[in-house]
Amino acid sequence: MDSITRNAYAKINLGLDVIRRREDGYHEVKMIMQSIGLCDTLTFTRKDEAGIVVVTDKKELPGDENNLIYRAAKLLTDTCRIKQGVHISLEKKIPMAAGMAGGSTDAAAVFHGMNEMFSLGLSVDEMCGLAVKIGADVPYCIKGGTALAEGIGEQLTDLPGMPDCFLLIAKPDIDVSTRFVYENLHADSLEDHPDIDGMIDAIRRRDLGGVTERLGNVLETVTVKKYPEVEEIKNFMKEHGALNALMSGSGPTVFGIYDSKEKALEARTGLERGKTAKQIFVTVPVNVLR
Ligand code: ATP
Repeated sequence: MDSITRNAYAKINLGLDVIRRREDGYHEVKMIMQSIGLCDTLTFTRKDEAGIVVVTDKKELPGDENNLIYRAAKLLTDTCRIKQGVHISLEKKIPMAAGMAGGSTDAAAVFHGMNEMFSLGLSVDEMCGLAVKIGADVPYCIKGGTALAEGIGEQLTDLPGMPDCFLLIAKPDIDVSTRFVYENLHADSLEDHPDIDGMIDAIRRRDLGGVTERLGNVLETVTVKKYPEVEEIKNFMKEHGALNALMSGSGPTVFGIYDSKEKALEARTGLERGKTAKQIFVTVPVNVLR
């Protein structure tokens, strides 16, 4: 097999809590992660000569060693002593600097793609062990689906899939750096913490209302203060049929949860008429990835 294609799915956080800031500067988190249908596509082609070539369809995202795709391919090539080279082309659909783990999920797809292409025989757990060197969210992206993520995000507990629903995703025309948000978070003086354990119970009961009433993300305290358009989009969704809406990750992307596709599509049309949201999608949760 000389060429294979892999989808790399975006994630949203149904719940995101920060427990504390560690001495080493990392934050201890407790998050409910959920894969969604919005995805990038990576095509892997084997090269006879050594070397990693990454080509992307976004000029603001070069294929050099700053790209997580390149870094994942290099880590695998070195660790598994792969002699041949690989050409990876990326078709990017996931908004960037958006809180949707776009870079991490691309890196995760490299682990799956190269494991298959070069018959490396790595188990999912072995891939996750290596992947954490690329980023704390990469192990989750390798597994996908619905999961509780603890530690710095790399300690994963699989959960049953979230109840069926439709998702309206909207990103305002601003980029938010995850680093900026964590640096400006006052982790020790947060007043409200989302009920992550209650949400896990609701997921296990397949109770969509129980999930939506517990949506919560402590990083909103930083991002919403700086970018009020995030709150505007949340309010619009809640006033236009969403059971609830929340910012994903460090933002600024907002997702609204709907119990009908028609309501989600109608709200999308409304958002498209306004000026606040620039990238807008309707999609569904993806509960089982691999
Ligand atoms: P997270 O939710 O994990 O914080 P994010 O969605 O906020 O991620 P990304 O889109 O993953 O942010 O990317 C943040 C930065 O990482 C980008 O601005 C870009 O410079 C860099 N980057 C490196 N590789 C990639 C990639 N393959 N796709 C997107 N961004 C990448």
